Amino acid sequence: MAKMFIAGESTGSSSGQSYDVINPATGEVVDSAPKGNENDVRAAADAAYAAFQPWSETAAEARAQFIQKGIEAVKGALQELAVMLTKEQGKPLGDSQREIEHFLHGMNFYAGLASKIRGSYVPLPDNKMYGMVLKQPVGVAAAIVPWNFPITLMGTKVGPALAAGCTVIVKPASTTPLTTCRIVELLNQAGLPKGVLSVVTGPGNVVGEELLRNTKISRVAFTGESRTGKHIMEVAGGQMKRVTLELGGSDPMIVCEDADVDKALTGASVGRFYNCGQACLAVKRLYVVDSVYDQFVEKLVGKVQRLKVGNGMDKDTRLGPMHSKAQRDEIESQVSDTVKRGAKVVTGGKRPDGSELDKGFFYLPTVLTGAPHDSRVVTEETFGPVLPVFKVKDLDEGIEKANASPWGLGSSVWTKDLAKARRAAERLQAGNVWINSLHIGYDEMPFGGVKFSGIGREHGPEALEYYLETKGVVVATP
Ligand code: NDP
Repeated sequence: MAKMFIAGESTGSSSGQSYDVINPATGEVVDSAPKGNENDVRAAADAAYAAFQPWSETAAEARAQFIQKGIEAVKGALQELAVMLTKEQGKPLGDSQREIEHFLHGMNFYAGLASKIRGSYVPLPDNKMYGMVLKQPVGVAAAIVPWNFPITLMGTKVGPALAAGCTVIVKPASTTPLTTCRIVELLNQAGLPKGVLSVVTGPGNVVGEELLRNTKISRVAFTGESRTGKHIMEVAGGQMKRVTLELGGSDPMIVCEDADVDKALTGASVGRFYNCGQACLAVKRLYVVDSVYDQFVEKLVGKVQRLKVGNGMDKDTRLGPMHSKAQRDEIESQVSDTVKRGAKVVTGGKRPDGSELDKGFFYLPTVLTGAPHDSRVVTEETFGPVLPVFKVKDLDEGIEKANASPWGLGSSVWTKDLAKARRAAERLQAGNVWINSLHIGYDEMPFGGVKFSGIGREHGPEALEYYLETKGVVVATP
């Protein structure tokens, strides 16, 4: 059984209860995890609160060294961790390895920034006085993480938090606790002081809820569904906790007539079907300009049909299973609603044949055309391998359709014309715009949403700001 890590120790739940973690490719039990409860969160919060002052007063350089030692420990266990991640999450083994490497890259990025945090000196009207602006860590942070990228999305919270001098409690999604618990254990065994980093597993409505309400926690960083995000804002906001929300998206991709077609095809295929379409920044609506539409759709379908669906442990697999039965049920219902309303399935639109795959939650990569603009695959986030394609007369119509959405996370435009690219970058209502580039999150760049896609930014030096308070100090010289 996996173990939580609380107050410097590996532990089960105080209730003694546990639950099974299921492999989405086979339906079999991978392992079990502690079913944590409010008491476990309280123990973690007490330890994190006690650890906060010494950790925040530890020299930034030394904090960075603690993180670096943790990175080395995780690197040493990379293969073991990648297998664990594929078994609990479903993604292909190579993608699991890349996810953990991306996590390490992000942790390294923030370790490097720890000693760059600085305030300022401010001249005041009375020249016998001056001001200082201090940047100080917020306190204990809760990192609430979803199941689609359990490790990188933990890192986007834990990295800046530890670098800023905050202590952290991680709550992984119930269905992906295993790799997270092991990584938190490794980071601790590499030397982090007791209480600085804990992990509590268990249901969102118990463990998550106590993280929102516990008065020793000052900061909540969340990635997940928009409805959960709204709830978090209401509950944690009631206590004035500092909250960032990285929520759903329905990223539009616009292909202009002068786009490099081969690159754009890769952008659409990888952008939509990576991680079996279960990514917040996936391409979820594809708008192609009339004059290249037919050619583009035909080539796209050929490319999509070559994607090999299978168990993530098989080396040829490009698309693993969907993460859970509930996720596949939701996608099936979104597709059937859209088809009933007149859309055409150009490829996919069903589960794959084959008895081995029947045991898991597989769904074929799917391309739809003719989806009404008010159908569910347009108005809702489609968290699976389904891509609706639309014909537009020009870039401006593409931008107008792209913006007619409650979401505003990512977006992309594909054109060789810099004036068009600039117009799109300025007008698209999104936290991020990629020009002739895959929708990928870089540790170096700020990332986050507008509209219903969230509040605040992760990644980049910008993320650090959300773990810091700004204090004004006025000094009168004697
Ligand atoms: P949730 O928002 O329910 O879960 C995300 C995290 O929040 C999990 O750790 C979950 O724990 C936790 N949580 C749930 N309820 C609470 C609560 N009351 N208080 C505090 N924490 C809580 O997303 P789901 O996993 O259910 O996914 C559902 C949908 O969300 C997907 O279909 C997709 O559309 C969207 N999604 C979007 C993501 C993105 O990156 N934008 C990522 C994942 C999902 P637990 O697992 O124990 O419930």
